[in-house]
Amino acid sequence: MRVAVLAVQGAFIEHIHMLDRLGVATLELRNQDDLARPFDGLILPGGESTTMGRLLREQGMLAPLQKRISAGLPVFGTCAGMILLARYLSNQGEADPLPHFATMDIKVRRNAYGRQLGSFHTVAEMAGLPDFPMTFIRAPYIEAVGPGVEVLARVEGRIIAARQNNQLATSFHPELTADARVHELFLRMIKVADAA
Ligand code: GLN
Repeated sequence: MRVAVLAVQGAFIEHIHMLDRLGVATLELRNQDDLARPFDGLILPGGESTTMGRLLREQGMLAPLQKRISAGLPVFGTCAGMILLARYLSNQGEADPLPHFATMDIKVRRNAYGRQLGSFHTVAEMAGLPDFPMTFIRAPYIEAVGPGVEVLARVEGRIIAARQNNQLATSFHPELTADARVHELFLRMIKVADAA
């Protein structure tokens, strides 16, 4: 199994380190040529979604990856990565829409916690499992989900993790903690997809 990590901007190295720790081979995606190499899953890291979206388009990766996600490629977006997956963005400029995948049936609010609560840490349940350490950095949250979307976690009543078939998204950054369970959940999604 090989997991690709979008490496045009943002906190991709932390995901690579987590996958190294789990003994999983990785591939950094920087431009269209990298897409020729085989991979079984894709991680979209945190960072600046506007910059990542533009670079994805400029590097010719937006449309090919969108096609593969729609065809079932397992994908995991953290923070800005969640924004890249969201079908609807509740606060983006109409005049200059963000280039993004828009493959997941969720409505996401960017920088949703405002300035004061821009970054915080908490511990909460996810997918029925207790005590996930959760680091939020100018995080988005999910305002609404479509019928095919499973809500995996809420913090203070707000949806901060969800899954729709092959797509997993978290508002927080599991790669910045020592807890590998969210990545392990994603690796199980890849194994199931490979077996299908
Ligand atoms: N606020 C950032 C954005 O809108 C996301 C922050 C993050 O990924 N840590 O892209």
